[in-house]
This record gives sequence, structure tokens and C-alpha cells, in this order.
Amino acid sequence: MISTPVPCFAYVREEGRWPSYHRCERKGVVEREGAWYCKQHDPIAVETKRAARFAAWDTKMAEDGARRELEGHKLATWDMLLEALNKVYDTTHDPAIELIAADAIDKARETR
Ligand SMILES: [Zn+2]
Repeated sequence: MISTPVPCFAYVREEGRWPSYHRCERKGVVEREGAWYCKQHDPIAVETKRAARFAAWDTKMAEDGARRELEGHKLATWDMLLEALNKVYDTTHDPAIELIAADAIDKARETR
């Protein structure tokens, strides 16, 4: 018995100005709830890919948020640290520490 391949059930949007669709031209390789789909349009594969994209997006958002929070924290402590450094510079009598403090103060002023 020869079985004719069942076409994929999915509709594919066509290029162009107005939305129009044509039936996917590949043959169906997987059956889902009575309809056949090609590998690309298998609803389970589509959903798995979508979920992975969302998970990657969530991870990226969490990382961006953490980075912004850290940057905000650094900026919030900047003035305090600079003030403390200035005090160290004004009161220290150790030339090595004075040199390091002076360099750090210069560096800090460059970026403001
Ligand atoms: Zn298809």
C-alpha cells in the first residue's frame, strides 16, 4: 500500500504589504490532535521554542536588573568614599598612602 504524504496543517504568512497566508508546503511528520505538522510547525516544538525564548528573556532581564542595582549601589557610595579618601589624604602622614589616595582622588574626579 502506497501512502500519500499528508501536508503540514500550518499556515504560513506570506511576504508582502497585506497579510496573506498559504498552507505550509512541507509534508506532515508528526500528528497532533488529528492534524499533521512538519518538524518546524509541530505545535509542541513551537511551544518548546517559545518557552525557551521567554526563559532566556527572563534570565536576561534578571541579569540586567542585578547589574543596574549594583551600578546604582556603586554610585550611591561614590561620594562617601571620595569624602573618606579626601580625609585620609588630608590627615595621613604616610607618603605611600598619601600617594595612593592622591591618585585615586584624581581618578575619581576624571570620571565625574
Ligand atoms: Zn509546516
